[in-house]
Formats: sequence, C-alpha cells, structure tokens
Amino acid sequence: MRLDHQRHHSEDEVVDVVVVGTGAGGAPLLATLARRGLSVVALEAGPNTDPEQYTPDEVEAPGDINWMDERISGGSAPTAFGPNNSGTGVGGSTLHWGAFTPRPNQHDIRLRTDSGQGEDWPIDHAELTRWIEQAEHDVGVAGPAHYPWDPERRYRMGPPPRNASSDMMIRGAAAVGITATDAPVGLTTEDRHQEHHGLRQACVSCGSCHQGCRNGAKVSMDTTYLPAAVAFGAEIRAEAFVHGIELDARGRVEAVVYRQDGRDHRQRCRTLVLAAGGIETPRLLLHTGIANSSGQVGRNFTAHGATQVWATFDESMRSYRGYPSSIITEDFVRPTDADFAGGYLIQSLGVQPLTLATSLVRGGGLRGAALVRALQDYPRMAGVGINAECLPYDDNRLVLADEVDANGVPKARVTFSPGSNEEAITRHAVRTMTAIVEAAGGTDVRVLDRTAHTVGTARMGTDAGNSVVDAAGRSWDVPNLWVVDNSVFPSSLIANPALTIMALSLRTADRLLRDDASADREQAATAVA
Ligand SMILES: Cc1cc2nc3c(=O)[nH]c(=O)nc-3n(C[C@H](O)[C@H](O)[C@H](O)COP(=O)(O)OP(=O)(O)OC[C@H]3O[C@@H](n4cnc5c(N)ncnc54)[C@H](O)[C@@H]3O)c2cc1C
Ligand code: SF4
Repeated sequence: MRLDHQRHHSEDEVVDVVVVGTGAGGAPLLATLARRGLSVVALEAGPNTDPEQYTPDEVEAPGDINWMDERISGGSAPTAFGPNNSGTGVGGSTLHWGAFTPRPNQHDIRLRTDSGQGEDWPIDHAELTRWIEQAEHDVGVAGPAHYPWDPERRYRMGPPPRNASSDMMIRGAAAVGITATDAPVGLTTEDRHQEHHGLRQACVSCGSCHQGCRNGAKVSMDTTYLPAAVAFGAEIRAEAFVHGIELDARGRVEAVVYRQDGRDHRQRCRTLVLAAGGIETPRLLLHTGIANSSGQVGRNFTAHGATQVWATFDESMRSYRGYPSSIITEDFVRPTDADFAGGYLIQSLGVQPLTLATSLVRGGGLRGAALVRALQDYPRMAGVGINAECLPYDDNRLVLADEVDANGVPKARVTFSPGSNEEAITRHAVRTMTAIVEAAGGTDVRVLDRTAHTVGTARMGTDAGNSVVDAAGRSWDVPNLWVVDNSVFPSSLIANPALTIMALSLRTADRLLRDDASADREQAATAVA
C-alpha cells in the first residue's frame, strides 16, 4: 500500500499509542484511534508488499507474506507453521487468509456455562455481534440472502459464484439431509469504492486467495483499515521488529525498542497495544517478562480442528478454480448426538496443487509412489473440511526455547496435543464429511488430519489470577498495555477467527478511547476546581 505520503513522528516524540502488528488485530484499532485524532505509530515486522507482485503460482508466489522464521513445534499434533499458519507484512495474515467469515455463535461464547468445559467469554454476544456487523460494514462481506441458522442476518452483497467443490458439497449435503448454503465471505462481489483506498474490483474467481489478491476483492487490512488509518495521520513503519518494552518506575510502558535497518530504535509512547498474533504476542511478553503475574502468558494455546475429507469423482473438479470456500453448514454447531462439548462447521474446499500435496503428506501420511498416484487424481478430487472447537488446556502452551533468532530473541516453542474432546469431535465430523462426499458420488475417500489457526496464549477474563487481560483487552498488570489479536480468545470458538479479531479490535479501540476520555474528564474537573 502507499506509505510515501504518510505522516512521520520523531522517536523523541511521546506518541499517544504504539501498535505492534498491522493484521486483523492491529489495523481496525489503528484506524479508529487515528480517526479520533490520536497520534499513532504502527510497528510491523514484515515488509510493505505491492499486490501487483502477487501471482497464483504457489511456487513463485512471494514468500514474504508468510512468517517463515523458525518456530519449534511439539506435542502429539505439532502445529505446522509457515504458510499454513501465520502471515507477516503490512496487513498481517489477511494478506494470505482465505476470507471465510462465519460469525461466532452465541453457544460458543458460553461454552463453560452450557457444557461445564472450556471457558466462557467475558463479553455479551449481542454486543460482540454489533461490533461484528460494524467490521462487516467497514470491509465488505458477502453472503446469502437467507442465512438458515440466523434468519435475521443480512449481507449487503450476494455470494461469489460456486466452484465444482461447492456444487459437490451442496449435492452431497442435500442427499443426506444436511442444510448447506453459500458462506459468508470477506470479499467484494461488486466493484466497491473503499474510502481512502479506491477501487476494489469484484472477485474474478481466480482461486488464489492464499497467494494474495491482486485486485483488492478480498478483504485485506492493506486495502481497508490501514489506508484509512494513514489518511487520518497514522504512521506505519514496515520491517520494524519489536523486541523490547521499557517500563517506567511506576510500572507503565514508556517506550518500545525495535530493530529496523540493522539497528535498534526506541519509540516513546503513552500507550502500547500488542497485536502481533497468537505466537508473537506471548513470545514478546515472555521475552520482556511483563504482564504475566497470572502465569497465563503462553498457556491455553488452541488450534482449530481442521480435518479434511477428500474424494475422487468421475467428472473434472479442478479445485483450484473459483473462490475456495464458498459453501457452509452450521448444522453441527451443537450436534444432538454429540459425546463432546462444542461442535464444528463444515466448509467446501478449493486448493492449489502444492497445498494439497503438503496436506497429503502431513495429514494423510503419503510418501513416494503413493503420493504421486494420489496427486494424479488431483483434477478429479474435491473435498470438504471442518473448523472445530478446541478446548483450552493449561499444558498446550508456548514457551521460550533455548535457541535464539537472528535478532537474539528466543524462538517460540509450541506444544499442542488434542484432548479426548477434540478427538471425539473429529470422529463425528469425519463420519459426517464422509457421508457428504460419498452421497455426492465420490470414491477413494481420503481423510487428512489438520489443525489451523493460532489462538489463545494471552487470554481475556474477569479474574486477574487466571487471565492476562481484562474483558476490554487491557493488561491486568500494566495499565497502559493492551492486547488485541488472536491471543486474547478465552476459547477457540467454532467460527474461523479473523472477523471476530477485527470486531474485538474495534471494541478495544472504543474501550481505550473511553478510558482516555474519562481520564480527560477527571483532568478537566481538577483544572476547573
Ligand atoms: C493460509 C491461511 C488461511 C486462513 N484463512 C482464514 C479464513 O478463511 N478465515 C479466518 O477467519 N481466518 C483465516 N485464517 C486465520 C487468520 O488469517 C488469522 O487468525 C488472523 O488474520 C490473525 O490476525 P492477528 O491480527 O491476530 O495476527 P496476524 O495477522 O498474524 O498479525 C500479526 C502481525 O504482527 C506482526 N508482528 C509479529 N511480531 C512482531 C514484532 N515483534 N514486531 C513487529 N511486528 C510483529 C506480524 O508480522 C504480523 O503482520 C487463515 C490463516 C492462514 C495462514
Ligand atoms: S478468488 Fe476472488 S478474492 Fe480470491 S484472490 Fe481471486 S479475485 Fe481475489
């Protein structure tokens, strides 16, 4: 995005707010604060990319939108990092996300109340939905005219065209009595003028969302909230890796230290917001040793169950064509025959060949000739996948490794093992998905085990003893430190996370501003007295 005309702040200036990270967590807040006239600086570790560099070719696609620094992964289901799980750059993971945007279900945020397991969210569902609607309005979300599981819901744009996998899922679901419809998706199906950015062309169904969207159709922070932030005076510093947080004698943040162009810089600030994602936010907190009196930083790492079921069909499917995930069913958010807490949603799939090959190796255990044979079926393969609840467990956690990165910061070591609840959900979902693809005419069914997303690790709550931030996103320990990204989720939710992260970001910005406003009011009252 264009940054050449942006406002510049000096490092000696005490800016109102520094935001670390410019993804779904950082960008909406940045735009909100800048619009209200605060002086804000965003520090982003990744580069500022140009959409014209994006290419659908998976091999040639620019690697610099994926966070490729090594992370150490363990447990019985080690999380696959790199392109599978986290982005970088001005726009964060929204540069390469799939833009599938279901809303969080009211049952999900009261999981503990309903099931006795997991955690409740300290947020009212109706309030969260208002912020979700605001985010959908701001960035442009398309969806069906009638949403079967929430008839009141309205989308301003119709859904994108279905691809062959979508038709397959609709056919198979209908045959076994499952309701399925066009999914809510974060893309424009009509040309849209995005304020402060310009034209975002309607989706052309090229199918390469994960390699970056060249024409701005897909919701990405660098074509929505970030241009607005810059227009209102925010400064975005790219390739600026934060590795230090300095506190004053009262225990409040007074500056952050970041490396850019091979040397350290120090930016003074009144408030710090961490939006570095579910891995880098806890890594930075553990490295700097702050905001962890609860001992909860890094704990409760959750990864959505994302198992896929693929089958081979008589006709050509060519699943690289079209928007990848255009069909959804929410029939299994709370299955009536469940022997587990929570549930899952199912989406249709569309993948490029290298992504499928990687999943066949990692999740299907295929190697050598068996892998080659499976890939020969690629043009006739189609599949469906889940996004499933994952309970937070104390020991699924991120700690600092002994090894350090190029900046001398200890690498993240993430341990993740699904519990019996996650295994029970996956068993149920594999039965359902197999029934769908077989009813649609698929044979040679393949189950590919996967997890997706990096959620939890600095959770919000109402008790300072077992959460890192309060319900507004403010650190219990450091009053001018806030967190707004994947890491604050107390439980994973069934819904894919990015839309909820944007909503939380708007909400935290509102809370931060209101807090400033009350401080201002106190000062004003004192001055008058
Ligand atoms: C391939 C893929 C497909 C996905 N598809 C979907 C989908 O369809 N729907 C959905 O809801 N979600 C999807 N997701 C997940 C979604 O994109 C993420 O959950 C969400 O975007 C995370 O937002 P965030 O702001 O928490 O973190 P990020 O987007 O990861 O942003 C963090 C930013 O902080 C920067 N940063 C980190 N550390 C530092 C530091 N020390 N100093 C400075 N900057 C730093 C990073 O470079 C990054 O830009 C997908 C993810 C992937 C990888
Ligand atoms: S399928 Fe649509 S949203 Fe995805 S990259 Fe292509 S044009 Fe963009």
